[in-house]
Amino acid sequence: MSSYPPSSPAQPTTLRQRLAGLRGPAVPPRPLDARALAALAANPGCGRRALLDGAGVDKTALATALGSPASFGQSQFAIVRGNSFEAKVKGDGGAELLRLVHAHLAPTTEPPGPGARVPDLTAAGPEGRAARTALALREATAAGLDAGAWTLLDHPMLALEVAGSPAYLEPDAVVVHPDGRWTVVEIKSFPMIDGAADAAKVGAAARQAAVYVLALEKTAGKLPGAEVGHTVLLVCPKDFSNLPTAAPVDIRRERSVTRRQLDRLTRVEELAAALPEGLSFDPATRTAEELDRAVSAVDAAYAPECLAACELAFHCRDRARSADQVTALGRSVRGELGALTTVEAALAAAGGTGCAEDPTAAALHRAARLRAEALDLAAARPPHPSPETPACPC
Ligand code: SF4
Repeated sequence: MSSYPPSSPAQPTTLRQRLAGLRGPAVPPRPLDARALAALAANPGCGRRALLDGAGVDKTALATALGSPASFGQSQFAIVRGNSFEAKVKGDGGAELLRLVHAHLAPTTEPPGPGARVPDLTAAGPEGRAARTALALREATAAGLDAGAWTLLDHPMLALEVAGSPAYLEPDAVVVHPDGRWTVVEIKSFPMIDGAADAAKVGAAARQAAVYVLALEKTAGKLPGAEVGHTVLLVCPKDFSNLPTAAPVDIRRERSVTRRQLDRLTRVEELAAALPEGLSFDPATRTAEELDRAVSAVDAAYAPECLAACELAFHCRDRARSADQVTALGRSVRGELGALTTVEAALAAAGGTGCAEDPTAAALHRAARLRAEALDLAAARPPHPSPETPACPC
């Protein structure tokens, strides 16, 4: 077994070098996508995720090396079904998609005609595609303001600077209205039944759309007359059919949370500086035990929601459970228990041996007493008389 921390010949000097050292100098940084940025916003208190994402660590490979591989993500069947639904929504030059945007977000303006603009956004590499998208947005805004044209940008490429590096993001579509407004459209394959979809899935889609809105705002800020809408359009299959339906989603809250979290990511330097020298998350050069200690060196904020959003969820859940942390029971339980951070401390408080000065411990003890009294009363009460069994007619 190799020693820990491993000997490190040179001291990294810049943040870029420091992060490369954490990732493994020979490992290319894993680019951040909108899903990863949205997941960061969903758990803003987790320094572990912020650092690993900021350093571009491949969390899937790390989780596998730790012996707790991630098991979330879409099945192949769901991906194929989603792609086919998206193609249907965007078919016929985006006529149905533009109709939905007009009906839900701009019903008082002139509806899009049959010849709406759908510019070609192909270019070489993500930088080229982002530059082509920026040009198309400029032309579409001018065409809207000058000639009242609607424009659909199909899979545009947006650039957003995250922790000093550009992240390239690809929304399903952006629609430019004749008044210069830009609307992000998210096309999802989960159903909208009676006009409502699964709240958790809508929340995840809203956080993802918020990342796109932030990226668009960088471009719109340089263009006179352009404005990014803070209400996005969510398009889903209607009820149990394959027909598209849509609902506007206000993402102002998600946008500000994501903005704060991205600002926090730019302070990844502080998180990295607090780590011991020579620490690395590179599965190719470190044993599982070394990786475990490296991951444990960064504070985490595990919650059951991590299971749907982070590759390290099984590892962090095991550690939270073995440390008896109440966070493993959910954020609401954690919030209710205040200074009682372990299950043992909460049980002690309920049993009356907690800190007498702590109002949470006192409330928990009182609740436990009331519960015990209620159970005693229920046990002492005679059983309900059962209805008499009717006599057999024969
Ligand atoms: S699974 Fe772990 S690293 Fe990922 S967000 Fe949750 S606590 Fe943070």
